[in-house]
Amino acid sequence: MHNQSRLMDEITRRRADLVALTQALIRIPTLNPPGLNYHEICAFMGARLEAQGFTVELLRAKGTPGDSEAHPRWNMVARRNGVAPGDCVHFNSHHDVVETGHGWTRDPFGAQIEGDRIYGRGACDMKGGLAASVIAAEAFIAAHPDYHGAIEISATADEETGGFGGVAWLAEQGYFNPDRVQHVIIPEPLHKDRICLGHRGVWWAEVETHGRIAHGSMPFLGDSAIRHMGAVLAEIEERLYPLLAEKQTEMPVVPEGARQSTLNINSIHGGEAEPEPGYTGLPAPCVADRCRIIIDRRFLIEEDVAQVKQEITDVLERVKARRPGFSYEVRDLFEVQPIMTDQNAPIVRSTAAAIERVLAKVANYVVSPGTYDQKHIDRIGRLKNCIAYGPGLLHLAHQPDEWIGIQDMEDSAKVMALVLADLLPT
Ligand SMILES: [Zn+2]
Repeated sequence: MHNQSRLMDEITRRRADLVALTQALIRIPTLNPPGLNYHEICAFMGARLEAQGFTVELLRAKGTPGDSEAHPRWNMVARRNGVAPGDCVHFNSHHDVVETGHGWTRDPFGAQIEGDRIYGRGACDMKGGLAASVIAAEAFIAAHPDYHGAIEISATADEETGGFGGVAWLAEQGYFNPDRVQHVIIPEPLHKDRICLGHRGVWWAEVETHGRIAHGSMPFLGDSAIRHMGAVLAEIEERLYPLLAEKQTEMPVVPEGARQSTLNINSIHGGEAEPEPGYTGLPAPCVADRCRIIIDRRFLIEEDVAQVKQEITDVLERVKARRPGFSYEVRDLFEVQPIMTDQNAPIVRSTAAAIERVLAKVANYVVSPGTYDQKHIDRIGRLKNCIAYGPGLLHLAHQPDEWIGIQDMEDSAKVMALVLADLLPT
């Protein structure tokens, strides 16, 4: 039986270390795209964990999307075996961050502290979570050096651009095989009292309408692909959106607005290309012969992806039936199945008990509106015993003045350490 108060003390004692580690990680600007400083952050993490007795591998996902000599896709996987065989608990964090964007009032890579907050790009998504998991593991090892089983910590590339050079690649190499890893926590910023069981599904597609180019002064000699697309958008507005609003899910998605099927039109383009920056001339008068939209459909565990695609075909066929000369193409871009880990899975039960102990409240079970690396662990790794759990507020992710709460990190680290104590007995 582990001594839990000793373990909690070990975390509290490491508060300054937790802050310093988070700051150090924020100060390595791992911007993606294009994928900067991946080797630097992996080497930094590897050196830290090696000093704690971990066996560290730095792995380049050669040939994956975005990988090049200029921007190699590096990943770090560290494993520390206990004194006897047993289960392996794996903490997986992505080390990449999205662009800073406009509107910052602090240095995005300065890791400035104000009160209980550390500011910076990636503070909550998800360098604070990575730091919390490292502190949890280090405290656990100090308090219970005679544990059975194994601890793994990974820092992986490219989650923000699909994870193909990160978790997907590692899963293909067998790093998430159920005989190697039995429990996975992804410390994404879902907040310290929430257990994220999975996410909705995704289908991205490009829809194109066709027309015929002509002089803009005689549009009747051509056929406008933009007008055809206008009819498609009107059909989506009038028929599809009401249908999607009716599809409610049993998944506990947060925010609640995402507890139904959704469709976003990510972009629209038709006719002449946008002028190059600095071009001062006028546009040319032409009837558009091509118009394209990119749709982003998020679907529910109750839905079937074939049906989701059929709805778009139905929209286009209804338009075709009443518009002479209407033709279209649909191109699949990306697809992810919805997933939801069982609430009785060992990692869920263990984390829920730890949340209750640390925060004196019952854990909330949630599902993410968007996907994250759990999809690869589930589909490629075939490992179902996986959740997202970590400090930070999801709505701050990708925003200017992103921050992470220091107390939230400490509390989450305590929860993670208790999970280790529960799943890796002495
Ligand atoms: Zn993230």
